Amino acid sequence: MAVVLGACLCGGITFEVSGSPEAVLQCYCNHCQKNAGGPFQIVAKYDKDLVNIKTGTDLLKHYVLTDTQSGYPKHKVFCSACGCTVWTVPMRHGDVYRIVRVTLLEDGLKKFKPDKVLFEERKLDE
Ligand SMILES: [Zn+2]
Ligand SMILES: [Zn+2]
Repeated sequence: MAVVLGACLCGGITFEVSGSPEAVLQCYCNHCQKNAGGPFQIVAKYDKDLVNIKTGTDLLKHYVLTDTQSGYPKHKVFCSACGCTVWTVPMRHGDVYRIVRVTLLEDGLKKFKPDKVLFEERKLDE
């Protein structure tokens, strides 16, 4: 996949991802549900070297979640102007991955189809 541009809600932070993500995840975990305001989030797991911030580095803020399923902290990186989460960094592997919300990427929901579902047991019965 070629380079895809991404931005937070206010557009203060812009970034690009290049190449293919390691995985595209549809995640029903507690954190994703809370953060999305819906049943799940779709996120793309990228090596950090494939994610480049273009503007708004000064707007980036970190919040560290410690109540994770894995027991390892997870860094939530968000825009301090609009509050939008841009990605999370699961510290289980060290600072290696960027778990990017595909809805922030141009045509993200079209370009990134989930190939794995996580915490499906938390999905509501229909
Ligand atoms: Zn913003
Ligand atoms: Zn999740």
